[in-house]
Amino acid sequence: MHLCSFLLQDLQNWLVERQKKSYQAKQIFEWIYQKKVLSFDQMTNLSKDFKIFLKDNFLFPSIKITSEVESEDKQTKKYLFTLEDNRCVEAVLIMSEDRKTICVSSQVGCPVKCCFCASGKKGLLRNLTTSEIVEQVLLILQKEEKISNIVFMGMGEPLENFDAVVKAIKLFNQEEAFNISQRRITLSTSGIPEKIIELADQDLNINLVLSIHAPNQLLREKLIPFAKKYPLVDILNSMDYYFEKTKRDIAFEYILIKDLNDTESHAKELAALLKNKQCSINLIPYNPIDMVAFKRSETDVINRFKQILISKDLVVTQRYTKGKDIAAACGQLAMQNNV
Ligand code: SAH
Ligand code: SF4
Repeated sequence: MHLCSFLLQDLQNWLVERQKKSYQAKQIFEWIYQKKVLSFDQMTNLSKDFKIFLKDNFLFPSIKITSEVESEDKQTKKYLFTLEDNRCVEAVLIMSEDRKTICVSSQVGCPVKCCFCASGKKGLLRNLTTSEIVEQVLLILQKEEKISNIVFMGMGEPLENFDAVVKAIKLFNQEEAFNISQRRITLSTSGIPEKIIELADQDLNINLVLSIHAPNQLLREKLIPFAKKYPLVDILNSMDYYFEKTKRDIAFEYILIKDLNDTESHAKELAALLKNKQCSINLIPYNPIDMVAFKRSETDVINRFKQILISKDLVVTQRYTKGKDIAAACGQLAMQNNV
């Protein structure tokens, strides 16, 4: 079993059912989440017998860092993790002036298979457990003093691994665990309407981002094969529901690929689609990956695209693709290892 799949109350119940003491769960939580001690042997206030009991029941930690690469500008660090079945996932630490963000993976591979993304190239290999998601952050936190934000923008479609992801979010948020405010947690999705509604009904109030990438259904289906199942209008309606329910602003991500989705008419169509929505649009220049012939949009094309959106009163941000030299776009490093 994986220890970091337990919320505090679940661990308390689990221990009590096994004739252990409820307060021992709090001790374990303190060691793990406050002191970042990831070895039972170093948890000095636990009895010898209890440590043996824990070792017999839990594989902890269940993942390990097997590679670490820093970008030339030192703003981005990519961590490769090996799981107990030798599969690999990655997480990225992104540093900017005002925040330190960890971008976590939710699946090994991805069922959505976007044609521009390395993670989707082999489809879904498997879901991660809550613990495997949470431990990505724990292991990085052992090396980094503090982080401010968590984003589900690594490998995988988080809403396709719904229960494990929701529990991981609860642990990130739980006071006795990571104690990170919901406002500092962001989930990015390719768009599954019924899951977006289910997420809205969880009362988690995290930030939600839709990877829209195209202003109409037809082009979107070309870029995101999974999108055939989900009409854009249904996805946008579910995003509206999310906004109504949580009062959190929603955001859209749009990867700009040369001559494919970056023309002036695409920008105008996108502006019309998102008119009157309280949202922001994050433009991401495409990061080239192996085996795909796409090119990144030219800078002046990106600027023109941005200006059209701004002229229609939309809020636009532009992600400078940090860490290009370390293959920072989702999944590139890990998929090289998942052979
Ligand atoms: N599966 C979810 C979660 C994050 S995917 C989603 O698609 O929203 C990882 C992120 O990496 C997404 O924001 C995606 O747009 C981006 N990404 C994937 N391949 C990329 C590439 N080649 N260049 C730039 N960004 C890429
Ligand atoms: Fe999956 Fe997101 Fe990559 Fe698309 S961009 S294949 S949804 S991880």
